[in-house]
Amino acid sequence: MNPSLTRISLSKSSSSDTYFILDRFDNKKIGKLLVKKDKIKVKLKEKYKNKSYKTEAKSLFLHPSADNWLELYWQYLKKTNKVLMNIDEYSFPIHFEAGRLKRFKKDIFNRDIFLHPLAGRYWKKMKKAAKKDGIKLQIISAFRSIQYQKKLILNKINKGQKLEEILKVNVLPGFSEHHTGFAIDLTSKGEVVLEEEFEKSDAFYWLVKNANQFGFYLSYPRNNSTGVIYEPWHWCFQSDF
Ligand SMILES: [Zn+2]
Repeated sequence: MNPSLTRISLSKSSSSDTYFILDRFDNKKIGKLLVKKDKIKVKLKEKYKNKSYKTEAKSLFLHPSADNWLELYWQYLKKTNKVLMNIDEYSFPIHFEAGRLKRFKKDIFNRDIFLHPLAGRYWKKMKKAAKKDGIKLQIISAFRSIQYQKKLILNKINKGQKLEEILKVNVLPGFSEHHTGFAIDLTSKGEVVLEEEFEKSDAFYWLVKNANQFGFYLSYPRNNSTGVIYEPWHWCFQSDF
């Protein structure tokens, strides 16, 4: 979600933990966003009570378009995650949480997956085409919320792992392409899961040859400039497809 495209804006109230949620078009107050210990609460007026406004308000708070977003985000992390690091040195790209999600089936763990409806539709098409060529593509992971990413990192911290070590394999909440609902981690039957060796599989060969036709691109090729390691399993649907 691009913050400049949201229907709402946030304005700080006199209390440091409360923001007013304003309708971007007429600047009317439509609700409040409250920051409480480890939670962001969104309270909306009756007329505006729907989930997408909630998501927009939270995304906007986590990723304000203003120049001070890093500072706000850093404050939020410090407050909620007890994650101590220098955010200025953190150079991964920011990703917004999906505005729309649809349930699809199933990942390799037999869990339902969630994807943006468009990405999901093209994933199904791609899977079908691969199957015709004898390749059984499987999803390891699709949409992951900012909240989920936070829990993932906190669990590891609570188990005694150092943040520097964790960040070699997980990005901070707000920085995963999986938040968008467009990214999928792939494998195929009998192949390795989330390992570089996946690049030697028939499935990877098929994807390199065909995935682009379905709008899926390799986000993190070898020596990419984002700072993320080479991930032959991670493919992302480009919404302008
Ligand atoms: Zn991934």
